[in-house]
Amino acid sequence: MSNIEEKREVLAQGLQQFLTYCDQAEEMITSKEVKASPQMDFSSLVDEILPLPLDKDAPEGATMKQLQRMVGECTRCRLCETRTHTVFGEGVLPARLLIIGEGPGFDEDASGRAFVGRSGQYLDTWLAPVGLSRNTNVYLANIIKCRPPENRNPHVDEMALCLPFIRRQIQLVKPELILLIGGVASKALLETDEGVGRLRGRFHRYEGVPVLVTYHPAGVLRNEELKRPVWEDIKKVAAFLNLPLPRKSK
Ligand code: URA
Repeated sequence: MSNIEEKREVLAQGLQQFLTYCDQAEEMITSKEVKASPQMDFSSLVDEILPLPLDKDAPEGATMKQLQRMVGECTRCRLCETRTHTVFGEGVLPARLLIIGEGPGFDEDASGRAFVGRSGQYLDTWLAPVGLSRNTNVYLANIIKCRPPENRNPHVDEMALCLPFIRRQIQLVKPELILLIGGVASKALLETDEGVGRLRGRFHRYEGVPVLVTYHPAGVLRNEELKRPVWEDIKKVAAFLNLPLPRKSK
């Protein structure tokens, strides 16, 4: 029997003993004969007090700290060979808005922090006018946690191996709304072949959480025409979260 199993058995016996003491105390206080409590199955209570140790490679049920450690040590795909740092994500917990991008770029890989490069800084300027920021109410993360070489798109198998991490992150961040930015993140999470142009402008759902889609800031930096639709999407985010819009841009 392992150490933890022994502890669980001792705890279950202790709980049963406690019931017996309660019966005896009741008998003493009320001076009435008390029927002994039945033998109870305490297994679910014991599970809560002394959970079995987590499989260190299974994101399901992990805490944010455990998940971050798993990501930091991950060797599930070839991207671990070329990364400088894993990029777990950052922001407020729980967050009102969870923004999910594709994966780390050069600056993120170098620093280990999400959305700190040019497109991340540009993304911050979309959020600030409606009172959103990673310091107050937003969490930022990516579909994949390691930078693909030369910023190529992540491969299907790389995304599939990394998806359990973002799935668990979503459960732990508990966002009111998810904003997917760019085609790679949107297709991966919504399991669709449709592009951003078709997906944006309406609500989707991921495991019960409402989802909106917009263009990736890197794409908007390359194509000014996408600025207007992005602003329409940010206004939708703000309306959903009941955040006031700046006066002149309604
Ligand atoms: N682009 C992304 O999709 N994610 C980042 O973290 C940075 C740039």
